Amino acid sequence: MEDRDGKIWMDGELVDWRDAKVHVLTHTLHYGCGAFEGVRAYKTAQGTAIFRLREHTERLFNSAKILRMKIPFTLEQVMEAQKEVVRANKLESCYIRPLTWIGSEKLGVSPKGNKIHLMIAAWAWGAYLGEEGLKRGIRVKTSSYTRHHVNITMTQAKTVSNYTNSILANMEATDDGYDEALLLDASGFVSEGAGENLFVVKNGVVYTPDLSAGALNGITRNTIFAICQDLGLKIVEKRITRDEVYIADEAFFTGTAAEVTPIRELDRIQIGAGSRGPITEKIQSAFFDIVNGRNPKYAEWLSLV
Ligand code: PMP
Repeated sequence: MEDRDGKIWMDGELVDWRDAKVHVLTHTLHYGCGAFEGVRAYKTAQGTAIFRLREHTERLFNSAKILRMKIPFTLEQVMEAQKEVVRANKLESCYIRPLTWIGSEKLGVSPKGNKIHLMIAAWAWGAYLGEEGLKRGIRVKTSSYTRHHVNITMTQAKTVSNYTNSILANMEATDDGYDEALLLDASGFVSEGAGENLFVVKNGVVYTPDLSAGALNGITRNTIFAICQDLGLKIVEKRITRDEVYIADEAFFTGTAAEVTPIRELDRIQIGAGSRGPITEKIQSAFFDIVNGRNPKYAEWLSLV
């Protein structure tokens, strides 16, 4: 990924993609204390627009706050910088990755006194779990790895180190021939995917794990709440067991990268009809209308670059 043309925003200025480097003694590289975001921009009739830019940027600042890191820029500056990166790379639709990390002034567990850095990159990134997955649904495996307990790593922060758990779960599932992993919390209740929130549909009601199961407070998850309200669908946050997923009528994952991806199978047990369910399809279609600027009700969720 490093050898390409383009610009990356680093600590307040655009630098050439190939020059956007850090030192090997970077604190975050050693101890994993850092936070990031995943944001998407879509091509709309009005031009390229970043979806829920403010909410993503606020979550980045909140993640940093939880990690006791002070980002040396304002929220507005970081929002503007993300637009600048999309423009500078002439991207029509893309994925945007802001990341804040601790510098290399000294090592040792305590990062006190080290500089806090921020970078923003953007590149074209299609369907995270495949175009086919968006239409037909994906195959998921319950992970042998437990999702973080809420008082071990902080689960409302999108931190760098939280993703070791995601990587382990995803590698295990994909090595076994599945598309993605589903993680359970330390009590055995359903938490989330390696990089997605989970929803199930049963008898016309939509359910998702409440955040005490250690799932990230996904911005797509929040968007699904609004969509369900618009569609007159009841949505309930509650504890969910893995067997409730097996016997659900429909299931789907949500995330900025994964968008709305139906799940057709969990642990080789077919969910519902084993394809994208009708309610999932309605929600997915409403989601793509919103992000692509086809629903004026949510125009304020789109920031033109
Ligand atoms: N859970 C995890 C672990 C994730 O990595 C993501 C992606 N950021 C999500 C949930 C979904 O969050 P969002 O909809 O804000 O992208």
